[in-house]
Amino acid sequence: MTGLHSLEFFPPRTREGAEKLRAARRQLAQLSPAFCSVTFGAGGSTREGTLATVLEIRSEGLAAAPHISCIGSTRDSLRAVLGQYRSHDIRHLVALRGDLPSGTADAGEFRYANELVEFIRQETGDWFHIDVAAYPEYHPQAKTPQDDLDSFRRKVDAGADSAITQYFYNADAFWSFLDQCADAGIDIPIVPGIMPIASATKLARFSDNCGAEIPRWIRRKLEGYGDDTASIRAFGLDVVTDLCSRLLARGAPGLHFYTLNQASLTTTIWQRLGL
Ligand SMILES: Cc1cc2nc3c(=O)[nH]c(=O)nc-3n(C[C@H](O)[C@H](O)[C@H](O)COP(=O)(O)OP(=O)(O)OC[C@H]3O[C@@H](n4cnc5c(N)ncnc54)[C@H](O)[C@@H]3O)c2cc1C
Repeated sequence: MTGLHSLEFFPPRTREGAEKLRAARRQLAQLSPAFCSVTFGAGGSTREGTLATVLEIRSEGLAAAPHISCIGSTRDSLRAVLGQYRSHDIRHLVALRGDLPSGTADAGEFRYANELVEFIRQETGDWFHIDVAAYPEYHPQAKTPQDDLDSFRRKVDAGADSAITQYFYNADAFWSFLDQCADAGIDIPIVPGIMPIASATKLARFSDNCGAEIPRWIRRKLEGYGDDTASIRAFGLDVVTDLCSRLLARGAPGLHFYTLNQASLTTTIWQRLGL
């Protein structure tokens, strides 16, 4: 067990993807993460895959936490999911609003993640440890930073135990966010989400969607490497390892790695940090 350092996976959609994930996990299991979380698709696309992946991870001897999202869901459907998780003795959830697939009109019975956290607490008391999402660079739909902080506080007031952030490459954004949380009396652990850099184009696309900023100097360097994947990965490893070590040196309670079901970059960063 290594503190609060954890890994995130998504449920594979094909048999080949499942095999690749198993191979990645065999490598990553050697890092002894505190837990592995598994994403949960909005609109129901990967719900069964989330549970199956969680159970498989547990059978390999690691702690696992499914994500659960509420947008597009009814109370009855979420009650069923919670019941299913409880019946498997799952005690840890990452609770999110989720995003509706484009073209979907029906938002269901929940609008925001604080309503989901409240519902989980109403239905299941203290059975689950609940993680929620936090956004040091603010959620793209937030009207103002203060609105976003208020939204985060509502999730904590509803019963969240800890939080994992969206990834970021500006450490100062994280520290500023923690200061604002402290001023607002929010004192749950907030673990930075870490995105290793594997591909410049995918990272740019991802970041545009989720509102994470790639600092200009990083973006320009990545663009400058063109198709030279080896240089992109080497530069990315240096940048992300340095970010992680600065975060840990200043007291971040742990690191949560978005592995994208790949082992090598996360393993290298983890080992360079001596976690
Ligand atoms: C660690 C992590 C894991 C994730 N895992 C998944 C996953 O497994 N599956 C998935 O589909 N997505 C996942 N996401 C993405 C997430 O679902 C999206 O970022 C989504 O847009 C917001 O989810 P949330 O839980 O942060 O929502 P919320 O906390 O509800 O916030 C969403 C937006 O609404 C605003 N808001 C909140 N409450 C109110 C209110 N009462 N009035 C007005 N505005 C309000 C907030 O400021 C914010 O802009 C993850 C994100 C993170 C950071």
